Amino acid sequence: MNILLVEDETRVADFIRRGLAAEGWSVDHAPDGEEALEHAATNSYDVILLDLMLPGIQGQDVCRELRARKSKTPILMLTALDSPEEKVEGLTIGADDYLAKPFDFDELVARVEALHRRANGYETDVNETLISNGAISFDRTSLQVTVEGVEISLSKKERDLLLLFLTNAGRILNAVWGLKADPLTNVVDVYVGRLRRKMVPEGKRIVALRHVGYRMT
Ligand code: CA
Repeated sequence: MNILLVEDETRVADFIRRGLAAEGWSVDHAPDGEEALEHAATNSYDVILLDLMLPGIQGQDVCRELRARKSKTPILMLTALDSPEEKVEGLTIGADDYLAKPFDFDELVARVEALHRRANGYETDVNETLISNGAISFDRTSLQVTVEGVEISLSKKERDLLLLFLTNAGRILNAVWGLKADPLTNVVDVYVGRLRRKMVPEGKRIVALRHVGYRMT
């Protein structure tokens, strides 16, 4: 696997690079956004690890620019920021996953592998209007959601949450709400609970993974 690592802190970059090399992957390192965009323009990568806080061009702008260039390379954002808003923003500007520092290296490796698998296998087209999964249909234009053909009414947050479940089928939702003890976890539980109740019988496919998050089966 070919990985582009965008990280300005030398110590962190060396640590990540060594670890990924130990997995047998080749890693190009860019210490800032400009170099990252140059690397991405001239090389082909399987996954891009993108730090958000960079000198010069910020990670978010690197991500936007890559997507504006129609790059489909999976992007895993790495950041010290760990708020649901930041994560949702990251995912809406085109990142595929999100990992808060400090992270467990095994988790980084697992995420990279998962992104690579997704990119090479099943992937919901981000531009697809109608997303279906089991008996659930989500029309991204009309924002109409139906379960077994019956329309259900969702709040904006519930809809965002459902969309994340649908576009990340089989994935754990910690991309949005973190793994570790998070003071906002209860909020997530509340929203997931509401969504489940509204989506009877499909709601039961959203399962809780203890200490990890939620996943749609
Ligand atoms: Ca940084």
